[in-house]
Amino acid sequence: MEILADKFDDIKILRFEVPGFEHLDLSKKLFIYHLSQATLAGRDILWHQHGKYNLLLRDVLEAIYLLNKEGEEWDSFVVYLKKIWFASGPHHHYSTDKFVPGFSLDSLQSWMAQLKPGMGKLTPQHLTSENIQLLHRLIFDADFLPKRVNMSPDTDLVQGSANNFYEDLTQNEVEEFYRKQKENAENKKLSFGLNSKLIKDNGAIKEQVYSEKGLYAKALTAINQHLKQALLYAENSAQKKTIELLIAFYQTGRLDLFDDFCIKWLSNLEGDIDFINGFIETYGDPLGIKATWEGVVQWIDVEETRKATIIANYADWFEQNSPTHPKFKKEKITGVSLKAINAVMLGGDCYPASPLGINLPNAEWIREEYGSKSVTLINISNSHHKASLSTGFAEEFVLSKEEIALEKKYGAISDNLHTHLHECVGHGSGKMLPGVSSEALKNYGSVIEEARADLCGLYFMYTPKMIELGLLPSLDAAKAHYNGYIRNGLLTQITRVKLGDKIEQAHMRNRQLIAAWVFEAGNGKVIEKVIENGKTFFRINDFDALHILFGELLAEIQRIKSEGDFASAQNIVETFGVNINRKLHEEVLQRFRKLNIPPFTGFLNPNLVPIYKDNQIKDVVINYTTVYATQMMQYSTEYSLLNAID
Ligand code: ZN
Repeated sequence: MEILADKFDDIKILRFEVPGFEHLDLSKKLFIYHLSQATLAGRDILWHQHGKYNLLLRDVLEAIYLLNKEGEEWDSFVVYLKKIWFASGPHHHYSTDKFVPGFSLDSLQSWMAQLKPGMGKLTPQHLTSENIQLLHRLIFDADFLPKRVNMSPDTDLVQGSANNFYEDLTQNEVEEFYRKQKENAENKKLSFGLNSKLIKDNGAIKEQVYSEKGLYAKALTAINQHLKQALLYAENSAQKKTIELLIAFYQTGRLDLFDDFCIKWLSNLEGDIDFINGFIETYGDPLGIKATWEGVVQWIDVEETRKATIIANYADWFEQNSPTHPKFKKEKITGVSLKAINAVMLGGDCYPASPLGINLPNAEWIREEYGSKSVTLINISNSHHKASLSTGFAEEFVLSKEEIALEKKYGAISDNLHTHLHECVGHGSGKMLPGVSSEALKNYGSVIEEARADLCGLYFMYTPKMIELGLLPSLDAAKAHYNGYIRNGLLTQITRVKLGDKIEQAHMRNRQLIAAWVFEAGNGKVIEKVIENGKTFFRINDFDALHILFGELLAEIQRIKSEGDFASAQNIVETFGVNINRKLHEEVLQRFRKLNIPPFTGFLNPNLVPIYKDNQIKDVVINYTTVYATQMMQYSTEYSLLNAID
């Protein structure tokens, strides 16, 4: 299997392998197959959540793509379309800024003049002069819907964001609406607003709930049909009940059923196959209320799970031995589980840009009462590593040969360990003080949460416990990880940010926050800035001291979270996590450009092909032969379940 599948603009597309799939028995293959169909069937939902006109845009661009032209303008068009596929809309998946097309309006107009209803998915409505004007603006007018998720503190976050969660509303109106909804609700624990769009109808604010009877009905009905097929092959009764609750949630849109589903999903630990399917993460909404749709089908990786289970079994030990203040610790950690899995199918907000680890559910009260379930996507991170070893990246940004050798020797093993610790110990740890709302930190909430999880990983990785438990061969592996983390946080991750921009994305803010904070706290001695031949490097001089600094920061971040201290969260994030030194940024981008490596990565799904005999599936075959554009066009044909124009 060839790992690198495509490369365009700032993105590379890799393949991932599902080792051993062919040896599964038919029942498990069928379970995976139907869950995978349910994962792909939600694709249009995310597109529409990302922007009201995204499906219209996709239909028209794909129809143009079928014209199959040639030349420079055409090549630019194909790159533009590939970027839109990647981001499920015209805004960059990371920066959320609108893409700037590399082709001219003239070219677009000449291609569009050749379109007719019936080409691709085009209907007469796609091509009304009104819609054509709209698309011109969407593609070429930089001031029209410029940003999908606007987090800047001095704007109205709702009006400044191009996402499709709110219409004709202000931030105040939205916040007030959900404050009242919660106040009037009998069950105040529900994740109010998680699965709906908020609109204004004749001056009244109304919620359009996602359900089989509401918004996204067609896609959710299709997902449910696949889930009903999957039910027949569930591995055990807990799994069966979990799927039934999800079906009921999609049928009704009732948030209490989603909570029931999450709780049941948590208890379902026995099977080898598991899935994520639902309205899960709220990063796409600057207010952190609305969740985007995502799906993953996963199958256990036996050896890595053995290691992860060791960590899970010691979760309580980690909590009691963490440097946080005792009043912010959980008395006893229950229900923490951690599985290493191989992804089989990615969908919605997990495709093509896939996470490396997942910790769910997100509802704080469920996490506190029932714990959380964590997974590490082993085959995804292995693909990352394989692809990164031959790029020259380490050689450019690492000062010494010893450090490079450490990276090559221990990079993969310590990265997997960090992900285990981040997901299980990190996100699972700590508690809120009574009366503190989980939304108290507002737009800084996810950065603080990610920092907390990363710091747990960083702190515990460099402890003798790791060696005692057989998780690391020596502290050198932890040193390799510290080197990599500091290098990334202070230097290399800004290759993903455009010159002059600030850091916006929660995970990136968290990494810079941590690295910059310990750099300053160590007075430039614990970590030293070194300039050689005009190139900037960071060298860790004292690993023991750095370990202690990580512990101090962890204690402070946990305090901020537990107390819901918004002012401190804002201060620490804005001071350390947001701004980039322009001179350094320029230098790093220049060094990076020379290497010619795209900073972002996405993944193609394998193809699962059912083999029929007498109308029955008698086998499911896996193959990795598809290419990026083919997979996208195939998905647009097979899973096009929502109307572009409503
Ligand atoms: Zn995390």
